[in-house]
Amino acid sequence: VGAGPAGLACSAAVAAAGLHVVLFECTAPGGQLNQVGEVQAYAGGPFEPAAELAGRLTEYALNAGAEFRYEEVTGIDRVGPGWRLNGGEVFAELVIASGSEVDLGKYPGAESRVGRGVSVCATCDGPLFRGRPVIVAGCGRDARYEADELRKYASDVVLLRTPKAATLGLEPGAQAASPEARLAPFRAIDVDEIVACSGDPLESVTYRVGTEVHTLPAAGFFPAGDRVSPHERWLRPGPASPARSIIIGDARPGGSRTVLEAMGDGVRAAQEIRVRAPS
Ligand SMILES: Cc1cc2nc3c(=O)[nH]c(=O)nc-3n(C[C@H](O)[C@H](O)[C@H](O)COP(=O)(O)OP(=O)(O)OC[C@H]3O[C@@H](n4cnc5c(N)ncnc54)[C@H](O)[C@@H]3O)c2cc1C
Repeated sequence: VGAGPAGLACSAAVAAAGLHVVLFECTAPGGQLNQVGEVQAYAGGPFEPAAELAGRLTEYALNAGAEFRYEEVTGIDRVGPGWRLNGGEVFAELVIASGSEVDLGKYPGAESRVGRGVSVCATCDGPLFRGRPVIVAGCGRDARYEADELRKYASDVVLLRTPKAATLGLEPGAQAASPEARLAPFRAIDVDEIVACSGDPLESVTYRVGTEVHTLPAAGFFPAGDRVSPHERWLRPGPASPARSIIIGDARPGGSRTVLEAMGDGVRAAQEIRVRAPS
């Protein structure tokens, strides 16, 4: 489930071994690569267009023979030794590669304003904020990426740097390797939490530092901090749940949230499945 780097790498390797793979994807192949202009696939390596990397990985999976199904997985049931997806077909193996997404619940007032000033994708929505002030909240690689991207369009970018979240994982230093000029002129303020988003569409963001509460005007707000794994909504832990499902990539707790680790997880999962497959 999920055609990001983890699911694509896993599907290609399983299909290349001659097994039938169905890859469920609810948006488009590439996962988070679709939200990023350029990625650094490994610390110290070059930046490359994320769309090209997504295209290449998709091609590998297709060439190897994986079947793509554009459908959101909303329910999984255990059926004997297999798994029934969305009440339909039963599969012998289940690989959860559904990635991670920004936890909007951590930003009061943000969820109801998505599309009306709030966005989780600076690459997609940055141009809509041309000449207007925007705020990014979060820390580490993703927040820096969003801020750098928005500096191409907005009149003023403020990064409200929140405490490091456990779900952020390792940062390969991707944005630190960008040209100096892209990193310099934006304001960063260390904050304890985001308290509120106000206006409809968005007009301001309120944050807290210690006991002091401040409000900044903003036309756009880009939360880029804490992340959650969406599969927790449809794959509940319990006695009947994942005895043999494999969780890979960003969906796996404790990962580094990098393309390379997602792909490595995918290849390792494929090996596990190949070993278990009846000959
Ligand atoms: C701003 C930003 C900058 C980044 N920069 C870098 C970088 O420079 N270098 C680097 O290595 N990494 C970078 N990353 C991280 C990298 O993109 C991720 O670690 C990687 O994409 C994780 O791959 P994945 O396959 O595990 O998950 P994802 O890429 O999140 O893919 C998961 C897929 O599952 C699908 N899905 C989810 N739920 C369902 C469902 N119920 N049914 C069907 N499909 C579903 C989603 O639509 C998605 O396509 C960056 C990420 C962001 C957001």
